[in-house]
Amino acid sequence: MNNRHAVYPGSFDPAHYGHIDIASRAARVFDDVIVAVYDTPPKKVLFSVEERVALLQHALSDVPNVRVARYSGLTVDYMRQVGALTMIRGLRVFSDFELEFRMALANRRLAPEIEVVNFIADEKHLFISSSTVREIASLGGDVSSMVPPEVALALRAKFNDPNHDGADTNYVVSLQD
Ligand code: ADP
Repeated sequence: MNNRHAVYPGSFDPAHYGHIDIASRAARVFDDVIVAVYDTPPKKVLFSVEERVALLQHALSDVPNVRVARYSGLTVDYMRQVGALTMIRGLRVFSDFELEFRMALANRRLAPEIEVVNFIADEKHLFISSSTVREIASLGGDVSSMVPPEVALALRAKFNDPNHDGADTNYVVSLQD
């Protein structure tokens, strides 16, 4: 099995510059990085898995050793299927640490052969999260400094779509007032 083969899993709903930064850093360290899009995360998603994959593919098209794929089920099972021994995760703020630490230990219990490697994004991207991006976009704000242009367009289309049910407005930190 190739130790230089890594998987960067997440929901990516949608991809933003923090994610792109982590994937690009990982691509400088590992021979081959799969950005793995979890198809049905246990939270309501704004974008379908096909849309999330397509937006990431576009955003990462100039990084030759990164490819984007979708997966379902346990991340460690997917990693075993593709023969990867390293799981990439990003760290933003201190509050990420506890969750990432717990997830890393749970994954180690499930798959002791897999190591988790955390990368820290450039400080200008550290505050960005998909939920903040979704909230700003839903309120008509400018997200162009946080996401690639295609993602900004896709967000605009989503929130202008009369069929969008508007149920994605349950934010932890609200920017609405
Ligand atoms: P989740 O896997 O919890 O659904 P996301 O899809 O939002 O999370 O993110 C995937 C990974 O990218 C996680 O490891 C997360 O910590 C990391 N990440 C998200 N935003 C940033 C950021 N701004 N800087 C660095 N890492 C980030």
